[in-house]
Amino acid sequence: MRKSVRDNRIHEAVDRLAGFCSMNWEVLEMLLTLTGEKKVCRQVLEEERLRQFISFCRDFRLYYELADFKMLARGDGTLGGFANEAEAAPTNHPYGSYILYVSKNKKSAGAAKLAERATSPEFGKILGYPGCCVDFHNGVSARQGKSRDFILDSLKRYGIYPFYNNMCLQHQGFALLSHFPCSPDCAASESAGKERLDFLREYFPALAQCLESELKSFVIYTKDSGVFYSTGFTMEGNMVTFGEIKGLIRNSLREKLQSAGKIYVTDFNAFTLDGEEYRGDCGIFSFK
Ligand SMILES: [Zn+2]
Repeated sequence: MRKSVRDNRIHEAVDRLAGFCSMNWEVLEMLLTLTGEKKVCRQVLEEERLRQFISFCRDFRLYYELADFKMLARGDGTLGGFANEAEAAPTNHPYGSYILYVSKNKKSAGAAKLAERATSPEFGKILGYPGCCVDFHNGVSARQGKSRDFILDSLKRYGIYPFYNNMCLQHQGFALLSHFPCSPDCAASESAGKERLDFLREYFPALAQCLESELKSFVIYTKDSGVFYSTGFTMEGNMVTFGEIKGLIRNSLREKLQSAGKIYVTDFNAFTLDGEEYRGDCGIFSFK
């Protein structure tokens, strides 16, 4: 059973957040913080939206702290050009994003700010992420330096995974979690994802439905050629047949996938498409 009495203004908050949040999980994190389900959340924001978030916090009596540095993110050309590197810059830097920590209590917002500044290994725990995933995150960060790919690193075998843990579609705005699971079948992440979906079903049913239908998908996640997925797919042994291929970029791999309509999966990071084998910096995920 959920413990807290809901803020009567939550529906007002949903409408307002939907107006300026650019990603679904930003709305979700703010709602969870507002209702006390989450102790503190972290938002990465450009100047215009920073003002909107701060004004929201004031109107809904949330505490916030602003990091005393900005985050400069850039892509290294992989993952379809998405930013996967970040470095700190002074707050007067002309580019980069502000980092805002939001909480119902002042102490938690301040603790998150200090922990990130100190690159404390406890930072993820302060944000409420499962311990196994925080350890995984810290391990990958130490190994790969600034250029990271937590999703590929978490996949060790081909299988069917709970859709609550699908973080492959985060760039298209579809994710229930705000951390990378240590494994696509991490039980702690799955239970956090379930709670979040229940929460959304109650307060934002349209978003709950949209996330569930997109996250139940077959994903071909490549480091160099983009992330593609299909929500209508069937698996017969290692043969996967799919309908419409979705993704943010259009390239030859996407066209080949769409015209073939099926692939033969040979390993968690290898598949055959139209007689051609793809192997290496990629991951094949089925989420149900
Ligand atoms: Zn975990």
